[in-house]
Amino acid sequence: IHISLKNVGCVGMCHQVPLVEIIPKGGKSILYAKVKPEEIQGIIANHFKPQSTFGMLKSSVYKFFESVQTDTVWDGVKQYSIDAREKAVSDFLDRQIPIATQYRGIINPLDLEEYKKHEGFEAMKTCLFDLSPEKIIETIKDSGLRGRGGAGFPTGMKWDLVAYNHSDVKYLIVNGDEGDPGAFMDRMLLESYPYRVIEGAVIAAKAVGATQGFFYIRAEYPLAVKRIRQALVYCRENNYLGENILGSGFSFDMTIYEGAGAFVCGEESAMMASIEGERGFPRIRPPFPAVSGLWKQPTLINNTETFAQVSYIIREGSAKFAGIGSEKSKGTKVFALAGKVNRGGLIEVPMGITVRQIVEEIGGGVQNGKKFKAVQIGGPSGGCVPAELYDTPIDYESLLKVGAMMGSGGLVVLDEDDCMVDIARYFLSFTQNESCGKCTFCRVGTKRMLEILNKITSGKGKLQDLDELEYLASWTKKGSLCGLGKSAPNPILSTLKYFREEYLAHINGKC
Ligand code: SF4
Repeated sequence: IHISLKNVGCVGMCHQVPLVEIIPKGGKSILYAKVKPEEIQGIIANHFKPQSTFGMLKSSVYKFFESVQTDTVWDGVKQYSIDAREKAVSDFLDRQIPIATQYRGIINPLDLEEYKKHEGFEAMKTCLFDLSPEKIIETIKDSGLRGRGGAGFPTGMKWDLVAYNHSDVKYLIVNGDEGDPGAFMDRMLLESYPYRVIEGAVIAAKAVGATQGFFYIRAEYPLAVKRIRQALVYCRENNYLGENILGSGFSFDMTIYEGAGAFVCGEESAMMASIEGERGFPRIRPPFPAVSGLWKQPTLINNTETFAQVSYIIREGSAKFAGIGSEKSKGTKVFALAGKVNRGGLIEVPMGITVRQIVEEIGGGVQNGKKFKAVQIGGPSGGCVPAELYDTPIDYESLLKVGAMMGSGGLVVLDEDDCMVDIARYFLSFTQNESCGKCTFCRVGTKRMLEILNKITSGKGKLQDLDELEYLASWTKKGSLCGLGKSAPNPILSTLKYFREEYLAHINGKC
């Protein structure tokens, strides 16, 4: 009997890990969830038992797996029938469309040969040998892909701007400086799909004429740094990076820059300052990076997820990608589904899916049968979507309309026990702490708003504090230099809009 064992990348089912999948040749795979080290022997015995070993396993582990054979599967908490277990897995996965996470659970993240066997680097070869830079950019434009880092700027247009600015030296940056509380999309993509991100970056480099690339990854993601570092070495050894890539005449190489944990360095001008060796302070724009970026050269910056979508678009065609999603938000979005939801994890869903569909159908509803109260979307720069707007489609425009924003993709589910004033205070204390202090509106505005929220939640608030909060929020939005300050008041404004009664309850001493 031939048995092979491999590690695979993340499948997004955080609510069931660690997972062990047994795939019999020609048979149906069996997935064991929440596996403990002491259960491994039992799993092996269950599938590959020689009679002699079988007799030795009279442990509780073995007894436990006797029950597996009678049609039940352990999930670490209770036993489901196989049908129920399969339904839970398929409910979680079936509504998803893996594009950035294509071949999830199948490929060993660092196995280059396996990546190649699963269409890896085909799109890159097409771009190196068959497509002009103009044609690549046109394909990305036609796909409707927009930046997945939060603002949703059209990717093809950004690439066009960098390509248009002629210079002998151009740079490219993969923004992997994910710092929002509750978000772990970039981490998962970098750890589990390193070659897919690299492939997208090389295609973008070819399109805009960049010669040097950087991965900017926060140092708190050591596995992501390690995998990308190793993947870059393998790519270089196999001529997928470096001088004269695959004999095409195009040269491009990448290095890693580890961020030191400042949230503001996720903002592109602060990130460039950081790479240049300066303090990570945002800079006044214009000029924009496409014109004058790293060391004053044209620079393309895209989020990790944006690059992870590129090879699919080139391989499958822009029309197929544009056929997924809503009218102005095409394709899929990766979200970190967290908070009070039964099945949390990393999901990739078509744009336009509703909040309800994500929470109820993919997430399996709110934990412990509690009532859904709201979802905080977009982390500290985003806002909340309350229960009365449960059917809001998740796309750039619809979220802005209800006072939230896509952000990079954190999605935290809140239930009836959560205090929305506390939620606003939590996110504001995060942004206040991360404010770099360069401009007054953000430096003073966030501090003053936080003082007011502390006052309200400690029962010392007054009615006029709410007017003061709105006044400060509006000026902080208008006067701040970068996205951190401009979006910092969002959690306050959206909770004031939908949950004003909770602020009043604090002020009136009713909670
Ligand atoms: Fe710094 Fe805040 Fe101003 Fe951005 S808005 S530059 S984080 S002080």
